[in-house]
Amino acid sequence: MANEENEKRLQAILDTAVEGIITIDEAGVMDSFNRAAELIFGYAASEVVGQNVKVLMPEPYRGEHDRYLGHYVETGQRKVIGIGREVVGRRKDGTEFPMDLSVSEVKVQGRRIFTGIVRDISERKRSERQLEDLARTLAEKNRELEAVVYVASHDLRSPLVNIQGFSAELRRACDRAHQILGDTSRPQVDREELKAVLSDDVSEALSFIQNGVTKMDSLLSGLLRFSRLGRAAIRIEPVDMEALLVVVVKSLDYQIQKGGAVVSVEASLPSCMGDRIQLNQVFTNLIDNALKYRHAEREPRIEIRGEVRGQETIYSVEDNGVGIAPQHQKKIFEIFHRLDPNGTEGEGLGLTIVQRVAERLHGRIWVESEVGKGSIFRLALPSVT
Ligand code: ADP
Repeated sequence: MANEENEKRLQAILDTAVEGIITIDEAGVMDSFNRAAELIFGYAASEVVGQNVKVLMPEPYRGEHDRYLGHYVETGQRKVIGIGREVVGRRKDGTEFPMDLSVSEVKVQGRRIFTGIVRDISERKRSERQLEDLARTLAEKNRELEAVVYVASHDLRSPLVNIQGFSAELRRACDRAHQILGDTSRPQVDREELKAVLSDDVSEALSFIQNGVTKMDSLLSGLLRFSRLGRAAIRIEPVDMEALLVVVVKSLDYQIQKGGAVVSVEASLPSCMGDRIQLNQVFTNLIDNALKYRHAEREPRIEIRGEVRGQETIYSVEDNGVGIAPQHQKKIFEIFHRLDPNGTEGEGLGLTIVQRVAERLHGRIWVESEVGKGSIFRLALPSVT
């Protein structure tokens, strides 16, 4: 009677415990499974008691467990027992989840029993991941903000300084013209001097002012485009990159023909996870650059390839253009950074946008290049699983 009473009391304690408590014998067979374990794994105790504890584990742990337990029983070497660690559990419905597991060992009447205490930590893991994502987004935002401050203080200032200087010049030239006009005692020949002031000084100052204003306008609209990009909604889904590149290459047909370029896309380019619209923009920018920064002495050849490497699918856009010196290879991704501002049209925003999109799609981009030979831009994106 006392024994039965004790057993009942013990069962009540086990069943009200918050943690899952499972006991197994030396062979790994379960002989008790409390209420919390039922809730965590989705099995009723009656379904699993008598079965090997392996059913609660996904592969590869499932296959290794016998060896594990046997090894311990034989050698006494501990890997989990008395230590506790984070492992992966498998519910009745086949889903897997992270859990904390601590195992202790007791000897009851010469028999060895292992008690496993488990706690489902999916929620904690999720919040940890959310926190990591948040920290990453914050770091990105911070970097963007720094870039904007830099641009506002350097790039936007230099056209302003020009506008200021040449406005003063213009004022002086106008004052001088007025002076000449107002001085009735001056002879007719002075009109020639006036003409010279108007056609040289005034017109030169005006064109510098106009250039400065155009430059500022393009910097400001670039900044606006960049800041909009951070807010644009993205939809991550499997993207058929082969089809996407057909569209991109077609839309660049004019530039390709004009440059006498050959663009080849590898057959059966792998798909990836991403946003169709944003990826279209990324590849348009990369191919457009490969066409723009061509080598003067040869026709551009651009090759696009892709390769699945586990979790990542890595695409490459390779050109035989001017190439980029090692010291500039990081800088070209910075906002408004251009290596030869007067050589080609552009605002130095394309690669900044490409990098920003890559980050938003949980990917990364980098360049490998040799001056005079060409460049390979590589873009890693999550693989389709
Ligand atoms: P933009 O083309 O408007 O200048 P990007 O941000 O696209 O702006 O590129 C920044 C700079 O990186 C370019 O000005 C150029 O100097 C360099 N660059 C980009 N792509 C290539 C390339 N494929 N080959 C050589 N240089 C390149």
